[in-house]
Amino acid sequence: MSELAGLDIKFLAGVGPKRATILNKELSIYSYEDLLYHFPFKYIDRTKFYAISEIHSKLPYIQVRGEITSIETVGEKRQQRLVAQFTDGKNVLELVWFKGIKYIKASLKPNTEYIVFGKPSEFNRKINVVHPELEESASKNDKLNASLQAFYLTTERMKSSFLNSKAIHKLQENALKSLNGKIPETLPAYLVKHLGLINLHDALFQIHFPENSEVLKKAQYRLKFEELFYIQLNILKKKMKRKILYQGHQFIKIGEYFNAFYNNNLPFELTNAQKRVLKEIRKEVGLGKQMNRLLQGDVGSGKTLVGLMSMLMALDNGCQACLMAPTEILATQHLETICEFLEGLNIKVALLTGSTKQKDRRVIHEQLKSGELQILIGTHALLEDIVQFKNLGFVIIDEQHRFGVAQRAKLWAKNPIPPHILVMTATPIPRTLAMTLYGDLEVSVIDELPPGRKPIQTVHYFENKRQEVYKFMKKQIDLGRQIYLVYPMIKESEKMDFKNLEEGYESVASFFPPEKYGISMVHGKMKPAEKDTEMQRFARGETQIMVATTVIEVGVNVPNASVMIIESTNRFGLSQLHQLRGRVGRGADQSYCILMSDYKLSNESKKRIETMVRTNDGFEIAEVDLKLRGPGDIEGTQQSGIAYDLKIANLAKDGQVLQYARDIAQSILDKDPLLEKEINHTLAKQVKRLSKAQFNWSVIS
Ligand code: ADP
Ligand code: MG
Repeated sequence: MSELAGLDIKFLAGVGPKRATILNKELSIYSYEDLLYHFPFKYIDRTKFYAISEIHSKLPYIQVRGEITSIETVGEKRQQRLVAQFTDGKNVLELVWFKGIKYIKASLKPNTEYIVFGKPSEFNRKINVVHPELEESASKNDKLNASLQAFYLTTERMKSSFLNSKAIHKLQENALKSLNGKIPETLPAYLVKHLGLINLHDALFQIHFPENSEVLKKAQYRLKFEELFYIQLNILKKKMKRKILYQGHQFIKIGEYFNAFYNNNLPFELTNAQKRVLKEIRKEVGLGKQMNRLLQGDVGSGKTLVGLMSMLMALDNGCQACLMAPTEILATQHLETICEFLEGLNIKVALLTGSTKQKDRRVIHEQLKSGELQILIGTHALLEDIVQFKNLGFVIIDEQHRFGVAQRAKLWAKNPIPPHILVMTATPIPRTLAMTLYGDLEVSVIDELPPGRKPIQTVHYFENKRQEVYKFMKKQIDLGRQIYLVYPMIKESEKMDFKNLEEGYESVASFFPPEKYGISMVHGKMKPAEKDTEMQRFARGETQIMVATTVIEVGVNVPNASVMIIESTNRFGLSQLHQLRGRVGRGADQSYCILMSDYKLSNESKKRIETMVRTNDGFEIAEVDLKLRGPGDIEGTQQSGIAYDLKIANLAKDGQVLQYARDIAQSILDKDPLLEKEINHTLAKQVKRLSKAQFNWSVIS
């Protein structure tokens, strides 16, 4: 591959400096390699020829062989068009051009067999083809022998320089011809043979000029496999390397803190999933290597408890632990929960956030250094250089999406022996994404909710049901419950966002008079402290209704809130809706989620709503979300840019290939962890090259 990367595109026949600049700018094509890896987005079967009598306007495209019998220019100046009568010997088809009339008229030849290709349409009850592709039948024989014609994405700017799909196709042909069979293989020969793949040369050739659909599939498979395989090899190799090079705290014993908590303080039985995950963690922290683990579990599945018990393992082995949350509210809530859980155990816990007073800070800093402080809970404030631990052994990061790679690395760097890291997320990540974005982390999943939870009932209503919804709210409030009413944040316009919310507030207030009902309002423009006060009021039950934008999305725990009403549902993504719904259903009461929307819904919105109504399963929802939006839009992938780096594989569709590629990569590394063997020379070279070029998104902690 690297040889092809060294060949400048401007020297390819048919390119030149001007077109090269356009290719650079529009498609980031700089080399032969870039061009050959600019893959078609669709193919059209060019083996089928139609008789004109078979053609009707519903066909997506047609191909006919025949001759032109007459050409004339019709219409006045501005509406002028060129019309050619084209016959297959039996019937007649009209070919029509609105542009380039002069040029086309001069180039069309009588008594010559042409192949016409294009989309048929109907005009005045006659079938015609507007702006057809036209090619002399005889010239087809010089072309590369493809039966499926490739189509390429191009931009407007490219088209205006005549770099349309057909021109790109021609350039591909030129490149392949000039390389004349000399495309070096990028997978080791043993792998190509063992896995029954086609070689790179044939794959690239067939992807642009497929002989038939079967070979095309093989070519696509080979290229997808390779793309995913190298990503996995790279990630897994990094993980191997880390395991080999770095020490980790070895937690040998389960000691008094853990046991005392388990025997005296644990108010309920752990779920089987919690037990399983604890075992997984326990096993890994016993190995003497640093743990990097992702803990996935739906909202309310009890991750915090698992995290807390893992921290106790650290404490039992003479280490400190910390828990980092994305917001101050969440950190405070964690502190409260954890202190409650730990009551009577004589463990020193503190909270450190942006608003911790200077005086308290100093005490915390000192006690961390002396080791007196055992568990520190906080926000980004934990990352500051001044925060130094005596012996940090375990780090929990809650809701990891909000933390960047660099920040995690900072925690890492605080200590001679890196702490074990547990990243907790309630945003279920589809397997393919997890394997790719967090592929160097071990993964644990809590796939079971604590017993006794009643599944949240979800319904969808249009605007005409508003009065009934209000009545329902009233009933619930009379039963002593609390209600969230959530409005979308409108990114493009903060003003509109606010207006929406205010109107919502007024509408609610007119039905629920403030002298009788407590209504809180929280939105993005409020200062953190104000937000916090309002949240706390609601959490304490002083208000019954919380009108808010999505600021309440993450974490907040108000078990008495049992109704979640989402306004303009169509403006929310599926995962976001699921997250919001997770704010209710935390107590013993039956909870409800009401999705309000306009009548006009796109198909995608309908599918999202239908999915929400049908299931509460976060993983299922994440998979649907991935399929609906494609990998590019899923949280976590956007920042990483991975979806744009993939040229042929699709994380929403190629899960099986991905798993296979990962298994193969792992089996190779099992035998040769750092790819040092001669037989793996090609692999080592490719990984080195790729990790420089594009894999910055796969680095964790
Ligand atoms: P998550 O962080 O995964 O969203 P939490 O850890 O906040 O979930 O747990 C949600 C609630 O369930 C908490 O009130 C917690 O105390 C409770 N909980 C956790 N584990 C269990 C269990 N095994 N049985 C009953 N309740 C549990
Ligand atoms: Mg949580």
